[in-house]
Amino acid sequence: MALVGMETCPALDLLEPLPDGHYVTAFGPGHRCLFGTPSGYGGKFIPTEIAERIASGDIKRVNYASFGANVNEWFIEYAHRDGGITYGHGPDTPQSLYNFAATRTTPFFRVQFGASGSFVAWTDNSWMIQRIIPDDLRRCLEQIDMEGSTGRPDRPTNISWHNDGSFVMTGVQPPKQPVTARPWYPMWKLFGSVQRDWSRLWGFGTSDERADCSMGPLVHAAINPHRDMCDSYVFIKAPTGADGIDYVVRIGTEESVLHLQPPIKTVAPDEYRGKRWVRSLRNGRPHKTDAWELLLKKNEDVRILRDQGRGWFLAQDRRGMVGYVYEDWVDLKGAGKPYIPPAVALARFKSDSEQLSSSTSATEFPDLSYMDHCTDEQCKRVKEDENGIGICVHDLGRVLSLEGKGSATFLKTERNKWHPDRFHRICQGRQGTELVKKAQALFVLVNELLEELEEQG
Ligand SMILES: [Zn+2]
Repeated sequence: MALVGMETCPALDLLEPLPDGHYVTAFGPGHRCLFGTPSGYGGKFIPTEIAERIASGDIKRVNYASFGANVNEWFIEYAHRDGGITYGHGPDTPQSLYNFAATRTTPFFRVQFGASGSFVAWTDNSWMIQRIIPDDLRRCLEQIDMEGSTGRPDRPTNISWHNDGSFVMTGVQPPKQPVTARPWYPMWKLFGSVQRDWSRLWGFGTSDERADCSMGPLVHAAINPHRDMCDSYVFIKAPTGADGIDYVVRIGTEESVLHLQPPIKTVAPDEYRGKRWVRSLRNGRPHKTDAWELLLKKNEDVRILRDQGRGWFLAQDRRGMVGYVYEDWVDLKGAGKPYIPPAVALARFKSDSEQLSSSTSATEFPDLSYMDHCTDEQCKRVKEDENGIGICVHDLGRVLSLEGKGSATFLKTERNKWHPDRFHRICQGRQGTELVKKAQALFVLVNELLEELEEQG
């Protein structure tokens, strides 16, 4: 048993990159692997026979490869420089696979190895399985009309699975008509971290109950069957625009690398309105390198914009950043304050103010907490002050500035209205002192805004 050394096999540099949209992922036990992409190849511990074949120079590309649990168990498709296609296999190829290969009637041929001697082999019109593969994968294969008897021949381009029951099949189109009757087995079933990453890649709306969505854009899928846990996989979506390709790659315990389109593009402006604020329970984000997850600050509120399913939500923080948050990271059960748009807050303030100024006996100061928005550390003290009104100058300014050109006149009227001297006259009873203090607090804030406005000229 001889293997090509630790570093990427140098012979792979002789190959021409794959065409756009074509990928090869062959996971083996340990660190054995072979990757092919439109920007080149990489691999480690590649079986010697394959490395030597590539080094001979007549191989243009590796179109497909699969490694078994045993180093002498492998399957590969070579594209030659002269235009031909040939298949190669390891010396430990089981007799059943030889027999199956002998019966094939079309050029297309694939063998995917799983753990402990299992494999699926298929051609344009037939398939066979050896040993244990997930039941759902087997049922899925049984439903594919490879014979094309309904006028729509179909065959997978990639089949990938793990002993935990996870599997993905690509290249097969789901039925055109909506699936209404059981059984219809979806072409993927995933568990654990692979399911989580998959959901993130598909924008979280994908349910394994529905096979009729989103599979078209999946151009490549590979799960490493040789690891105890299903924690190595590659999923690649077709590019949807000029922004690059969405993909997820996770190799073992390393953090998954996820590239997604910016979520901001999928949020319509009106979705920002009327949404609930929830408190962040932790700092940071679940996946450090995933820029589309919102970077949370513990105890700071974020606004939940949309439930993406699978425990993920699209949210916006107070700085206006939009990103994904995970359910465990925010206090969804807490009494999140509803979000009040500034225009609504202004109308409410005007109405409260009007009511109070036309009143001859005030006993209660209006609750202004619907304006609470600013999270500045220094303002926290102001907001928590017992004699204060629970908001800071930024909160008030954010709402009152909506008056636009009329701001100065409006602010002057408000300042007079809340002047402690004037307010004192309409206050009644024991609550009077408290009311005057609150009016004073509001007066100070309004005055501050007015001065700010006058400074600006
Ligand atoms: Zn503030």
